[in-house]
Amino acid sequence: MIRDLLVMATNNEHKLREVRQMLDHNFLIKGLEEIFCYDEIRETGDTLEGNALQKAHYMHDRYGVDSFADDTGLEVDALNGEPGVYTARYGCMNGYGKSHDAEANMQCLLDKLKGVENRKARFRTVIALVKEGKEYLFEGVVEGEILKEKSGTEGFGYDPIFAPEGKGGMSFAEMSAEEKNLISHRGRAMAKLVAWLKKEYRNETD
Ligand code: IMP
Repeated sequence: MIRDLLVMATNNEHKLREVRQMLDHNFLIKGLEEIFCYDEIRETGDTLEGNALQKAHYMHDRYGVDSFADDTGLEVDALNGEPGVYTARYGCMNGYGKSHDAEANMQCLLDKLKGVENRKARFRTVIALVKEGKEYLFEGVVEGEILKEKSGTEGFGYDPIFAPEGKGGMSFAEMSAEEKNLISHRGRAMAKLVAWLKKEYRNETD
């Protein structure tokens, strides 16, 4: 049997495992290093869509493979949608620690929201797929709020200060990975991608 090969433009094992678990054995999902790609893929867009497309196109155009990539941002209403596309380096941009430092990012956001009552926020993930030169976008959103202090030890990034709607104020970091994946921004975007792939490649519907 010939399996359909798709490259996810990431080396993040967690993301690769998540999408593989959702697809069936007819799909072969490879990360960058698994196809011997060690390139630094640039993310210079000023939107999540732009960055996801940039990464998926890079692989498709340079390596000739169907490819997909994701980009995630945390959008806080009281900060006019910040940090948005700058979520990974928000702390660093504001003088707190290094880029991709979760503690610095969270401290920066908590300080910016000191005394602010409107804590409404959402995580948004965009997945871009480039298949035979055509672009497809899939979006996943989880609404919630930014807590006043950290709570919980699971997960990563901003999880200790993000409480998804409808879960009694519990933070993502207080949930198991399974519980979080069911409602998370990335889980929802992945589910849309997976449903589309199954239908498009296999003509399957769940
Ligand atoms: P990326 O596009 O997946 O690299 O995500 C960008 C940044 O958003 C990460 O560096 C994290 O700080 C944050 N982030 C993405 N997904 C999550 C999540 O599920 N929980 C907490 N933070 C996240």
